[in-house]
Amino acid sequence: MPSDKHEELRQKIIGLGESSVRKSYYPQLQDRILQLERFHALLDRSHELIFLIDAQTHLIVDFNDTICSVLEASRESLLGSKISRWLPNAVTQEMTLLIQKKDTSHCNLVEVELRNSHSSFPMEFALQYTNFSDQDYCIILGKDISERKAAEKKIHDLAFYDSLTHLPNRQLLHDRISQAVAKSHRHQKYGALIMIDLDNFKTLNDTKGHHFGDELLKQVAVRVQATLRSGDTLGRIGGDEFILLIEGLSLQKADATKLSDHFSRRIKNLINQPYTLFGYQHTYSASIGVVLFIGNENNKDTLLQQADIAMYHSKKLGRNRVSFYDPMMQEGIEKKMTMEHELRIAIKKEELVLFYQPQVDLKGELVGFEALVRWNHPLKGLIPPNDFIPLAEETGLIIPLGNWVLHTACKQLVAWLKRYPRKLMHISINVSVKQFQETQFHHMVETVIQQTGIAADRVKLELTESLIVENVVETITKIKLLRSLGINFSLDDFGTGYSSLSYLKRLPLDELKIDRFFVRDIIIDNNDAMIVKTIIEMAHNFDLDVIAEGVETEEQFKFLQDNGCTLFQGYLFSPPIPAEEIEQLFLQSIGKK
Ligand code: C2E
Ligand code: CA
Ligand code: CA
Repeated sequence: MPSDKHEELRQKIIGLGESSVRKSYYPQLQDRILQLERFHALLDRSHELIFLIDAQTHLIVDFNDTICSVLEASRESLLGSKISRWLPNAVTQEMTLLIQKKDTSHCNLVEVELRNSHSSFPMEFALQYTNFSDQDYCIILGKDISERKAAEKKIHDLAFYDSLTHLPNRQLLHDRISQAVAKSHRHQKYGALIMIDLDNFKTLNDTKGHHFGDELLKQVAVRVQATLRSGDTLGRIGGDEFILLIEGLSLQKADATKLSDHFSRRIKNLINQPYTLFGYQHTYSASIGVVLFIGNENNKDTLLQQADIAMYHSKKLGRNRVSFYDPMMQEGIEKKMTMEHELRIAIKKEELVLFYQPQVDLKGELVGFEALVRWNHPLKGLIPPNDFIPLAEETGLIIPLGNWVLHTACKQLVAWLKRYPRKLMHISINVSVKQFQETQFHHMVETVIQQTGIAADRVKLELTESLIVENVVETITKIKLLRSLGINFSLDDFGTGYSSLSYLKRLPLDELKIDRFFVRDIIIDNNDAMIVKTIIEMAHNFDLDVIAEGVETEEQFKFLQDNGCTLFQGYLFSPPIPAEEIEQLFLQSIGKK
């Protein structure tokens, strides 16, 4: 109540007799008291802590009930006591500053952790300086901000932790690696960055569903985390890739290598232990790459890249192993990248050339050619296919490359046939697994046939056994589709792979091609002679043609003839040679057939 109103009331009361006071002013007084009580009761029920502090003495003048329960203190002990007894320093220091400035226009906020005998909770205190009846006060309002803090933490966690495994995510890991590098620079101790990539994770996801994959990732995270010392960091940087950061290994490189090798192997073995995923037992493996670091000569990006290269090396060596980063690996990768780049250009610039190797019948007469690609490198000269086909397969370049080969070889045969018409004359073309598996392969072959005008039955596609083993049903369907166009199929390198009679029986083939390594030793090695005989017999049983490649000597030729082989290819007749030479040496000299 404003002070002049008090005064007015008092004068009125003093100037009147007891009975009239009762009659006229008691009700007013009671009303007023009721109002005040109601207001205090409201304040008492508020969840906020409310203090009224005397600005001069810093004593508590008034407060609400909530304070008693939160601070676990009685009204008596609070009233008239110093505020500094109850609230953390940060709040009382802020209050002192505010009182010194006598600034009534601002409200200052302080966040502190408040403790009582049960727990501690985050509070935000709002302090306001105020003047009232010529007295200076400070009002302090405190509220529990646990919920806000929890929400903030959640946002922070979402930004820095992986929601599936609750491990640090890529961003947080990057920070930690940078810090570790700086620390290693100060202490000159080796640390290690270990990249762990689960093997065949995609297959699990694809065959069993994502919930299986997720469950596996969680279990792996828990297992690996359990082996860590405090200070080590395990994070997930996406997919099935985990990064482990180990610091302060040793001052000596040899020790650090030994320790991290031992540790990585332990993790590998741990990951190899069986998992139970939704009631099913599974086993998994991981490919691991390790890079050591000391000082800050390599930054986090370089280290991550090196760990990745080492991990990739483990994959290439057959998975489920640990590899340490070696600069030679990088050299290999860089060489490969350069080659990939050059090959890409080579395909466009038509630096590829086809050589042709004649195939002959029992009488040694020409019946067709195998097209064999070479890369005519501007600096390195002719590069044999074994030096670049695997890279082309790995990078997907085999698709445009294979397309080019198919197109060029067919076009060549059409051109030859125009000038040297012959009834029997086909072209054999090698087809890579990846190329054959391409969904568009069938269309590509059809297009080539249309564009070049070649008769489809003059085209023989050479497939390898690995293709068939990988996906029998799909392969059969595809072969049948192409055979319906008239295309022939030969099974290349027969006998080297996973040859299985059951596959052979089901495959709609036209020809088996005996691998040149069996042919090489038929005269001197009884075993090889037996194998070749068996292959020829088998081919006859399945009603397939059989061609022997790598025929170099008359003895080999005779042996094969004697044992029922009807088609031949090899240096005895001719090595693979350029198209012009084929024309000069074979086509021009042989009459029409
Ligand atoms: P391949 O299909 O088994 O080809 C036969 C290889 O044996 C050829 O090697 C050929 O030069 C060689 N050869 C032929 N006759 C003899 C002989 O009497 N003795 C010996 N020791 N070797 C002989 P090349 O041309 O280096 O090809 C190697 C491989 O590269 C081929 O093996 C084939 O797998 C692949 N390749 C070649 N051209 C292509 C192509 O256009 N596409 C695909 N996908 N692969 C190709
Ligand atoms: Ca071949
Ligand atoms: Ca072959």
